[in-house]
Amino acid sequence: MINLVLFGPPGAGKGTQSEKLIKKYGFVHISTGDLFRWHTKNDTPLGKRVKEIMNSGALVPDEITIAMLKEELDKNPQAKGFLFDGFPRTVPQAEALDKFMKDNGSAIHFVIALDVNEAELRTRIAKRRTVENRADDEEEKLNKRITEYFTKTIHVLPYYEKQNRLNTVHGIGDIEEIFSNICTILDKK
Ligand code: AMP
Repeated sequence: MINLVLFGPPGAGKGTQSEKLIKKYGFVHISTGDLFRWHTKNDTPLGKRVKEIMNSGALVPDEITIAMLKEELDKNPQAKGFLFDGFPRTVPQAEALDKFMKDNGSAIHFVIALDVNEAELRTRIAKRRTVENRADDEEEKLNKRITEYFTKTIHVLPYYEKQNRLNTVHGIGDIEEIFSNICTILDKK
């Protein structure tokens, strides 16, 4: 069983690479962004709580996010391995994830960070805006999401680096080449 965290700022290509990794390795995909979007779309009590926060581009508070993640883990006791996409985004989330994995006799084996500079992120999301129509891709909200990444989420990197679990992959260029670089890391160990 292999568990992987795919890490990176909004627009880094986490969704695209996740799809390819799931196909190849059979991970259970846990995207907290997709889960929150599902809740808001279906107007669940959780969706009602997080809608405004998400639309502003801010991070959802840790206790809400961690509880939702735990529920999702508990739904998949037979998983061969998890791919976490968009989680953890804060150090307390990373600590909670380690604890959940440990409680199940498992661990996060790989953390792969997609490295993409801010100018490229903005270009990509501007393009995505014309296709996906995500409310939080609008300019002002995007600024907030990028600020949240560079002020809060970035601190997750040293957390994993200190434990020698961090692998950085250059995230600009050919999608297949980026995918192949990720696979090389996963297949090596
Ligand atoms: P994403 O699709 O991963 O960019 O997530 C969309 C939005 O969902 C984010 O801007 C946050 O408002 C919320 N969200 C997703 N994952 C998390 C997380 N791990 N912690 C806090 N908020 C999150």
